[in-house]
Amino acid sequence: MKNVVWKTLAPRQMELGPDTGAPGQWKAWRLTRDEDGIDWLIADQPGASANTVSEEVLEELDQILAQVEQDAPKALVIRSAKAGGFFAGADVKAFVGARDAHEVEQRMIRAHEVVDRLAKLSTPTVAVVHGYALGGGLEIALACDHRILVGEEARLGFPEVQLGLHPGLGGTARLLDLIDPLEAMQMMLTGKAKRPGEAKAIGLADAVTEERHVHGAVRAVAQGEFRSAKPGRLGRLRHQVTDRILHADLPRRAAADRMRSQAAKQAPPEHYPAPGALVDLWERHGDDLKALRKAEIASFAKLMTTDAAQNLIRVFFLREKMKRLTEVEAQPPRHLHVIGAGAMGGDIAAWAAWHGIKVTLADLKPEIIAQAVGRAAILYPKLGHDSGKTRDALDRLIPDPDGQGVRHADLIIEAAPEKLELKRKIYADLEPRMKSGAVLATNTSSIRLEDLAQGLARPERLIGIHFFNPVSRMQLVEIVTHEGVAAETLDIAKAFLGAIDRLPAPVRSAPGFLVNRALTPYMLEAMVMMQEGVSPETIDAAAEAFGMPVGPAELADQVGLDVGIAVADSLKAGLDKPLPVPPDTLRAKVTAGDLGRKSGKGIYAWKGGEPQKAKSFAKPTQEMTDRLILPMIDACLECLRKGVVEDEDIVDGAMIFGAGFAPFRGGPIHYAREAGAQTLKARMEALAAIHGERFRPDQGWDRLT
Ligand code: NAD
Repeated sequence: MKNVVWKTLAPRQMELGPDTGAPGQWKAWRLTRDEDGIDWLIADQPGASANTVSEEVLEELDQILAQVEQDAPKALVIRSAKAGGFFAGADVKAFVGARDAHEVEQRMIRAHEVVDRLAKLSTPTVAVVHGYALGGGLEIALACDHRILVGEEARLGFPEVQLGLHPGLGGTARLLDLIDPLEAMQMMLTGKAKRPGEAKAIGLADAVTEERHVHGAVRAVAQGEFRSAKPGRLGRLRHQVTDRILHADLPRRAAADRMRSQAAKQAPPEHYPAPGALVDLWERHGDDLKALRKAEIASFAKLMTTDAAQNLIRVFFLREKMKRLTEVEAQPPRHLHVIGAGAMGGDIAAWAAWHGIKVTLADLKPEIIAQAVGRAAILYPKLGHDSGKTRDALDRLIPDPDGQGVRHADLIIEAAPEKLELKRKIYADLEPRMKSGAVLATNTSSIRLEDLAQGLARPERLIGIHFFNPVSRMQLVEIVTHEGVAAETLDIAKAFLGAIDRLPAPVRSAPGFLVNRALTPYMLEAMVMMQEGVSPETIDAAAEAFGMPVGPAELADQVGLDVGIAVADSLKAGLDKPLPVPPDTLRAKVTAGDLGRKSGKGIYAWKGGEPQKAKSFAKPTQEMTDRLILPMIDACLECLRKGVVEDEDIVDGAMIFGAGFAPFRGGPIHYAREAGAQTLKARMEALAAIHGERFRPDQGWDRLT
């Protein structure tokens, strides 16, 4: 597998202590003592690209600590032999399907015993961290006396909230103890990882160094001469003051209330209970961190057994599964040529250049190319703080108004306007100039690949690589295949998406592919409801009540009402049953130039990129929610039945990462199973009786019943 980034580095590249060469006593760890009497405990889980904190890893650690207690070294160093980092987090697999909070609690009590044993060791302990130290990995590092970071790639964080959890291995209390409590809560509530500079500034790391200084730093710890770079005087003072203030109940309660309301704005507590549980924990026990560490176990166990956490863990594995699709033999393209530097082409080019690919960017109008490069120059500093990286990426993004890049490119992406004849003309012009092994991809949203392939000398190298807008934020990309596509072409598309950190969903050429097919009835039904007199605020609230991050009226404005209507028009001919009919008032808006966010006015008025919604509006009903959500699920089942997508997991992943389908519900198909397919199907039949054919359940429901 060529695209796998993680690999084990040879000891000479990393300071891992003396190499005994003998197989160790433990599976996941190696323990050796160097000539200075320092023990090097190296985590290196066999057959894994990254270390994870599993029960087995902790049981072995317990045995090792017993040995270290018996024959104390001058210092104990914990680090990882994996190139990617220290520990990528806890082993979430172990908790898939957990429904018994008491059982989870017992397992966590045992895990705490091991980490507490590490924390209590009389020998000085140092976690030497390169790359990621996340979740359970950071909890191990926090139980050490010191944390030394190696290189600028280190990232320390608690991403548990994204899994519907909070830290569970003593991390809540240890982080609150170590750094400013408000900073600690912020870190755990947002899940954002700290870079080395930030980690040092807030006192999370004692030092940031280079590999060649690791041994010296560790020796200094052993000799009691290590000087930790704690925050400056002002930082310490601030920490002491906030600590003292927040030790008192009243200020802590006020701060907790603020955190709760802030967290609720990001994610409704009824759908995402973890942030609230974390704030409760701190509010109750923030003045007694020992009690907090104990209470953390029960709170974690309770969260772990919620539907939200179980479904968010599912989402984690869906992402892994989709990422694995990019692990193919084919080499990712080294040179990409993009045709059309508009909204999509310009951003695809910028994104690929950021990820190390040389890109030539063509358009009929040079000023459009210049605008695209200008957008990239604004985007890059937001993606990474390193100005050198921005400069290099801009160097790779080459304006190419004459299309010289066609001859050299390994992959060409066409992102010209959505017109069949125009696209065909472009292909006819460029195909004779393409390299023999090069792939031709289209970003079309709605044109059948079979129609685009007509007239090509080599249709087997045509494929759809369908990005979503905005390219830098939407992780999903549909890879659209057709009857004649070559396996090699498909592999190159997958390798490309792996190289630019996007998640592929392979779909067959069909009207709307998967995501637009499923989102169209969602948005059009909203238009019909508006025509019936329901306010867009109420309609959006009906979808948000289900857990959609953006309601259909707001989404339609974001996509552009003109684009929405064009997609709907192009879809309707190829479908088995009618779509909701967009009312004339909607077409009138488009004619009047009220296109949504991009024109400042659509269904809503837009200011500063935000829709101006009325504060008070009628409450949505369950029927409204059903009218929006059930047809979306129905369309997904239709796509499975027709073989547009082969795998239920890919449908769920694509809808979560491409359409924002409520992540805590685990995806449309998973949700339909959990909620009871018979019940949902019956609700669709009831809607069909009132509103007509468009709600007639697809035969695809049969696979669930
Ligand atoms: P756009 O109008 O913003 O950009 C198209 C660009 O192509 C224009 O700058 C135009 O000057 C250029 N162009 C036209 N003819 C050309 C030619 N012969 N050679 C080179 N350049 C040429 O359009 P867009 O929104 O970026 O859409 C492009 C494609 O992406 C379409 O197929 C569309 O369906 C698809 N798409 C759009 C979105 C979206 O949200 N806008 C999302 C997914 C896919």
